[in-house]
Amino acid sequence: KANRRFHEDDSVIDVGGVKVGGSNFMVCAGPCSVENEDDTVALAKQLKEAGANTLRGGAYKPRTSPYSFQGLGKEGLRILNVAKQETGLPVVSELMGTEHIDDFVEMVDVIQVGARNMQNFDLLKVLGQTNKPVLLKRGMSSTIQEWLMSAEYIMAGGNNNVIFCERGIRTFETATRNTLDIQAVPVIQKESHLPIVVDPSHAAGVRYLIPSMAKSAVTAGANGLQIEVHQDPENAWSDGQQCLTPAEFKDLMQHINLLVEME
Ligand code: PEP
Ligand code: MN
Repeated sequence: KANRRFHEDDSVIDVGGVKVGGSNFMVCAGPCSVENEDDTVALAKQLKEAGANTLRGGAYKPRTSPYSFQGLGKEGLRILNVAKQETGLPVVSELMGTEHIDDFVEMVDVIQVGARNMQNFDLLKVLGQTNKPVLLKRGMSSTIQEWLMSAEYIMAGGNNNVIFCERGIRTFETATRNTLDIQAVPVIQKESHLPIVVDPSHAAGVRYLIPSMAKSAVTAGANGLQIEVHQDPENAWSDGQQCLTPAEFKDLMQHINLLVEME
């Protein structure tokens, strides 16, 4: 169902009133983790002002160490909803396990499947039973073919609202956290009618690479970006080293908007 053979035109997916796909560009920005209401609402206002059209924020976090901050849980989803009411930005958050599916269907506009869960087939099947848009991140060690099959799992259940997200893959290179597979953008667009967005933040893992990789993604034809932004990256509860400040994000968006217009 994800194959272009079955749908020649680009699919356009409605995420809480914002269209994604074809010539509709998604700019999803926000903190790695939701930390508190005041900062989240203040940041969401700045992001919207700068040109974001969706707000991201983790409430359930897949951390490498069990001793790292695990997210605020349902309280995080509540805070995202306050930010949504204040700004009108649809919200994107990661669902790690099927036990929270009802809360996510009720409280978020796009359910993110993280890289570590790309092949959690039970989770994909449950998402297939909903009609919520799903942002399907590429597993860090997954081939494009495996990634397409994961989209297929969701679509097989009847949910065609899938957006791919390239977030970097594991290679032998250690200079960056992951290696951004920019070629995945045209490959996915050749194989599938579904939109693909690029997350340079988790690919690079370091702040200074985000602007160049974001611009590369747009030039490669990506249907959107996901970028981590934090008011005070030095003190972020997760992924601070790769977060842009609101000012850096605003500056980047001026370049992105010009490139998107040219595409
Ligand atoms: C995230 O978006 O914060 C995240 C954990 O992403 P990924 O699953 O791509 O590592
Ligand atoms: Mn993160």
